[in-house]
Amino acid sequence: MASKKVTILGVPFDNFTHKEFVHTLEKRLQAQQKTFVVTANPEIVMYAHTHPEYADILSEADFITPDGIGVVKASRVLRTPIKERVPGYELMLDLLDVADREGHRVYFLGARQEVIEKLIETVPVKWPGMTLAGWHHGYFDHTDENMMAQVLSTQPDLIFVALGYPAQEQWIHDYMKQADRGLAMGVGGSFDVLSGTTKRAPKWVRKFHVEWLYRLVKQPSRWRRMLAIPRFLGSVRVQKKGKKVNPK
Ligand code: UDP
Repeated sequence: MASKKVTILGVPFDNFTHKEFVHTLEKRLQAQQKTFVVTANPEIVMYAHTHPEYADILSEADFITPDGIGVVKASRVLRTPIKERVPGYELMLDLLDVADREGHRVYFLGARQEVIEKLIETVPVKWPGMTLAGWHHGYFDHTDENMMAQVLSTQPDLIFVALGYPAQEQWIHDYMKQADRGLAMGVGGSFDVLSGTTKRAPKWVRKFHVEWLYRLVKQPSRWRRMLAIPRFLGSVRVQKKGKKVNPK
């Protein structure tokens, strides 16, 4: 299944519903097609907008999902509306359900040692049907080819990479050059949440789309990163007017 792309500040998003995405990825997993998935939030779009080498990596992804309401809002501003947001965390849970049903081999790469240890205790209990291909914390030299060879040797169907952007997409991009199969996706801080180390925003916060405010209160040190969202929407308005956006 292909989707009509919606380009926001140079990043080509796939316009699927969440369900369509899961279905499409499930089919590719069954067919053992090599697949690179990026879940892009406004911070990632802004980063790609100002870092051409990162934009090049994103352009090689098979799918880019709109992670967050900010991206959906931007698509409406541009009058090319995206159907709905597809949060990376939830997509990861859905893919784990698929792995559970189909017995896929899953590799978890990233996060701190104690987080990944907790994660690999929790995951097989929640998804007993999947096979744990392997795991490793995320504090290694991200250009180390031995690490890539180690992951490859476990023959994973699914690889979740939690190194934060841009490192995770760069790593997947390099890995994909070596691999002949597998679906890899960057998942940011998702292992911290799935392992129970970090709490996810409560349902009401998610419903009213104010996760950014919740995170700001919980982790005030992130305030600088959050400026990406208003800057992002500002740049999108400029794109709409058809002017060239100054990346700086
Ligand atoms: N991380 C890692 N290796 C590093 C830097 C970060 O494994 O060299 C992990 C970190 O422990 C956390 C995740 O990457 O689990 C980054 O989470 P964050 O929410 O900052 O993701 P981002 O929003 O940057 O994609």
